[in-house]
Amino acid sequence: MFNVLECVIYDHDLRLVLIAALVCILGNICLFVVLNRSTFCVETRRRHWLVVAALAQGVGVWATHFVAMLAYRGAMPIRFDIALTLLSVAIAVGFFWASFRWLGKAPTTARCAVAAAGASIGVAAMHFTGMASIIAPARVTYDLVPILVSLLLSWLCFWGAFVAFARSAGWQRIALPAALAVLAIVVLHFTAMSATTLVPDPTRGDALGGAASRDWLVPAIVLANLALVALALTGSLIDRWLTDAHGLAEATLEALAITHDGHIVEVNHQLGDLLGVSSGAILGSAPGDWFVRLDGSPFAVPEGASVEARLRGAADEDQIFEIGTRTIEYRGRSCQVLAIRDLSDRKRAQRAIEHLASHDALTDLANRSQFTLTLDDAIAAGTPFALLALDLDRFKAVNDIFGHAAGDEVLRRVADLLRAAVRGDDIVARVGGDEFLIIQRAVTAPDDARRLATRILEDFAEEMDVARDPMAVGVSIGVALFPADGADAKTLQRNADTALYRAKNNGRGVAAFFDQEMDELARERRALEHDLRHAIGRDELRIVFQPLVATAFGSIVGYEALLRWDHPERGEVPPDDFIPIAEEIGAIVQIGEWVLRRACMTAATWPDTISVAVNVSTIQFQVPNLPTLVRDALQESGLDPHRLELEITETAFLRNRQGALRALHAIRDMGVRVAMDDFGTGYSSLSNLKAFPFDKIKIDKSFVSSIDNDEAARSIVRAIIGLGRSFNMPIVAEGVETAAQRQMLLDEGCPQAQGYYFGHPAADPYADDAPPRGARADG
Ligand code: C2E
Ligand code: MG
Ligand code: MG
Repeated sequence: MFNVLECVIYDHDLRLVLIAALVCILGNICLFVVLNRSTFCVETRRRHWLVVAALAQGVGVWATHFVAMLAYRGAMPIRFDIALTLLSVAIAVGFFWASFRWLGKAPTTARCAVAAAGASIGVAAMHFTGMASIIAPARVTYDLVPILVSLLLSWLCFWGAFVAFARSAGWQRIALPAALAVLAIVVLHFTAMSATTLVPDPTRGDALGGAASRDWLVPAIVLANLALVALALTGSLIDRWLTDAHGLAEATLEALAITHDGHIVEVNHQLGDLLGVSSGAILGSAPGDWFVRLDGSPFAVPEGASVEARLRGAADEDQIFEIGTRTIEYRGRSCQVLAIRDLSDRKRAQRAIEHLASHDALTDLANRSQFTLTLDDAIAAGTPFALLALDLDRFKAVNDIFGHAAGDEVLRRVADLLRAAVRGDDIVARVGGDEFLIIQRAVTAPDDARRLATRILEDFAEEMDVARDPMAVGVSIGVALFPADGADAKTLQRNADTALYRAKNNGRGVAAFFDQEMDELARERRALEHDLRHAIGRDELRIVFQPLVATAFGSIVGYEALLRWDHPERGEVPPDDFIPIAEEIGAIVQIGEWVLRRACMTAATWPDTISVAVNVSTIQFQVPNLPTLVRDALQESGLDPHRLELEITETAFLRNRQGALRALHAIRDMGVRVAMDDFGTGYSSLSNLKAFPFDKIKIDKSFVSSIDNDEAARSIVRAIIGLGRSFNMPIVAEGVETAAQRQMLLDEGCPQAQGYYFGHPAADPYADDAPPRGARADG
């Protein structure tokens, strides 16, 4: 040790030693900065950086050694063999390179030891090759033991340096290893120098002024080395900046491209994934090579704003990208970053929502709002078209009998059928439960619309055969033409509806065209509806009573209350004409209530043995307060509940069967009787008779009227009477007009009857001014 210090202090130019030390320190700082950088790079670039590190360190160590050698104040002039000098540099670089490669990215202590051995042997080999390059009139001899010790010390220092590098972080990762590596080099160099003896030998070398060569060599070497260090450090910093910027670009979810002069100069891998090509294939191309605008026009990089684009030649309509730009400075040039965001999923979702908003969820046909828009557009365009209004026949029955799931299935079948019947640019919409509208475009003559209507009717006849399929439905069609039958949407739709109404009245399953006469009828009906709404208020309604008699004796057991409407202009309107309208417009609820209260009031004035029958519409069952209304009417009038009888028809069970049954039971629990009216005309379902204990069944007058000349009618009447007997429900025959009919019913065992034979409907039979009651019991 003492020898080494002595050697440094007394045998060296201390200024040059200082310079050598500085070169060494700087070189090692540079080494670990570069090594540090290399650990953050991908494998290929890491290897490049290892070469740089080996080069910087090799040259740096050599420069340290060389300057330190020049600092050695030997007594004799020396020169250097260029080839050996270069070899010594190469040896240093080579050993360092191998040792750094061996070190790897995250080295273990053992790996560090091996790498350190490589490094120290490299430095030693460089040192002694460098010594061998000296050309001087002397012989160089070495003291082997200190040299081996120095090698060992140097190895330990390098080992420490590499371990410190592997284990530390931050600035310590540079400072600590650098300090230890400097120590490793210094120890080796100066120990080796102190163990070196130059024995003068005039036979060797040639005489040359050594001082002269020192003057330019030191600055040259130092400057060259500094330049190398500076280069490596700057490179590492730039690489860090670039790599990090690149890393950031890779970290985003968006695809990015940087363009300069219209050409793509940088991309992230997301863009490669999106385009399905490697990044290399994109570099150098123009954005327009990959994207087109939504309308198919060439894509140009938008200024500031963002545009929507799709892939050039892509088949998927919904694959849409949003491309936004920003100008940035990249690698010292003004460039544009394109951020490409895949909107496909969002677009698809948006489209689905739009579709849902404008389409019927069940049939996927256009809904009413979508249809209204289309109709307005068609009218605005001014080209002739036909508007077809369609309504399904029997649909309500199918829905009620087979359930809603079956009803839905029928609607889907109908939708498919209509879709198949129209042309591509026609519009089919479902605008209500079983109502459909069609816009048939480019209709030049009514015949065009007639053909479509006929086609639809034929398709229905073929696909929906009631004989084969109990769930089959029919269709009625009303047609209005634009502009002939209406120049605005409202008129046109109203007229198509009018035509539809006519089609339904014409026996359903047909198509009807709107015409002026029809318009008159529709106008008339609307007027009737209007008048009907005000009939109660205007006191135009009254009740007549028709006797119900015991068939055997002809004695009156009660009266049926029948409604009459005295229209100020039309005169008496029969209930069969206005009750269906009242039901359609809902006025029947108010009218029915009025009849019930009035009938109870009137009957309350009658003898206790005489009852009153009141007809209740099916629609009245849809209002939940029917039992309450009955109770009110009874309380108000003071009529004994046993004297009231309600007549309902089977249709009351079609809609909301459970609700109807609940209401009927509640009414019956009050003591009010319930009769099944018009039996034999509707579904005549035994299940209805089983579901509720009716107090009587009224056979429809159509059977009674033909009982004396039609054996079939007589059989039906007989069957119904038998049925009533087995259900324990008395049978009432309606519409008895002749003595013969009465006799026959008597023979069949029908206990009660009603009809003109016994008496016409007339005003209150017990009023003071009433004519004599007309029931008869002859025959
Ligand atoms: P409905 O309940 O079956 O009433 C019997 C109908 O047969 C009455 O017709 C009556 O005048 C008629 N009629 C009675 N005897 C004979 C006869 O011997 N021969 C013939 N050809 N007909 C006879 P109207 O009064 O025209 O009533 C018709 C229908 O209107 C009623 O049939 C009933 O369903 C309905 N209706 C009448 N008033 C009301 C009411 O206040 N409310 C409800 N919801 N419906 C009513
Ligand atoms: Mg009746
Ligand atoms: Mg009847």
